[in-house]
Amino acid sequence: MASLPLGASSGKRTDDGLMLIGDAAGFVNPLTGGGIYNAILSGIKAAQIGVKALIEKDCSRKRMGEYETWWRKNLLPGFQSALAFQRFLN
Ligand SMILES: Cc1cc2nc3c(=O)[nH]c(=O)nc-3n(C[C@H](O)[C@H](O)[C@H](O)COP(=O)(O)OP(=O)(O)OC[C@H]3O[C@@H](n4cnc5c(N)ncnc54)[C@H](O)[C@@H]3O)c2cc1C
Repeated sequence: MASLPLGASSGKRTDDGLMLIGDAAGFVNPLTGGGIYNAILSGIKAAQIGVKALIEKDCSRKRMGEYETWWRKNLLPGFQSALAFQRFLN
């Protein structure tokens, strides 16, 4: 049985023409196992950035960096806090 992809795992979620969202990006809270909210949130953000990138005809890794910056600023701190709390509970 595969385990849930947890949000504090390292690594980029973008590449040329690529933005990973939801479980594919590993946006599951390490403490609660919840991933629906982050899947929806990251999907909306990726769609917004993707539309702009298509209009600008630039889907390069550099352009996708806006998404990389967004999840690191908005999602990663919550994952790290949850992971720290999980370790404390253990
Ligand atoms: C047992 C269990 C309980 C959970 N309980 C909760 C909970 O209570 N609260 C919570 O917030 N989260 C919960 N989660 C986590 C949550 O389900 C996921 O984080 C969330 O569904 C991720 O959404 P997603 O859109 O990224 O992926 P998914 O919901 O997995 O959607 C991906 C979709 O892509 C489809 N797909 C896959 N490959 C292809 C392909 N090649 N072509 C076309 N389609 C494809 C799949 O069939 C699927 O429908 C739970 C997970 C599990 C396993």
